[in-house]
Amino acid sequence: MVYASGIRKSYGNLDVLKGVDLVVPTGSVACIIGPSGSGKSTFLRCINHLEEINGGLMLVDGDFVGYRLERDRLYELPPAAICERRADIGMVFQQFNLFPHMTVLENLVEAPVRVRGEPVKDATARALVLLERVGLAEKRAAYPRQLSGGQQQRVAIARALAMNPKVLLFDEPTSALDPELVGEVLEVMKDLALGGITMVVVTHEIGFAREVADQLVFMDGGVVVEAGDPVEITTNPRSPRTREFLARVL
Ligand code: ATP
Ligand code: MG
Repeated sequence: MVYASGIRKSYGNLDVLKGVDLVVPTGSVACIIGPSGSGKSTFLRCINHLEEINGGLMLVDGDFVGYRLERDRLYELPPAAICERRADIGMVFQQFNLFPHMTVLENLVEAPVRVRGEPVKDATARALVLLERVGLAEKRAAYPRQLSGGQQQRVAIARALAMNPKVLLFDEPTSALDPELVGEVLEVMKDLALGGITMVVVTHEIGFAREVADQLVFMDGGVVVEAGDPVEITTNPRSPRTREFLARVL
């Protein structure tokens, strides 16, 4: 579960997040939509403490990612401890960010072995299962440059899954893809959602959100303007800002 309450984040005197509240229950999918610059990516990065928040409470499965609580005060954890906790939170970016000098299989095995100290044999066995799941077992010896964008993104998703994350974050995972490759990535994501993994997905794919999300979240100007049932929000938005945004993207 992701529990975010009153999240504030500023860069200098630019207030980007102005009190974001969001609860994503375990096993559910939240899709975040909103105009460019509304703070969607910043919010995702706050979830796994890639950004330090300036106010509010952020908990992932009941734990602070970047802090420990001692006598009612929060203290920032040392980098190694943060990395350890962040390993439970998978992230998939618009740009696939695969390691270019590693094969597909090596991309999946790297983090479990290096970060978690898993035996190579175990990590490899699990990686092969995950590649099967995203339909790319036959590409295990290929290098990223030999794959299509859609295939690379499916590898990136499998790589995130290789760490057995408690939560998976996606930041516009299909925005960099040619239109004909978007479907195969959304299919994989849909399959994960049905499998019960907790997901927070920033996306422009309203159709996907309507079909898969348990909750649709419209962000604008650094706050959640409206959140709720995706079909309800997209057909009958309460806020004029949501209505205006949907009219532009639908
Ligand atoms: P998009 O849909 O274009 O991806 P977004 O909703 O993801 O937009 P963010 O990337 O979170 O928006 O950015 C929100 C605001 O914060 C923007 O005004 C951006 O310029 C600013 N911002 C983001 N990261 C930084 C940073 N590291 N330093 C300074 N300003 C930043
Ligand atoms: Mg963004």
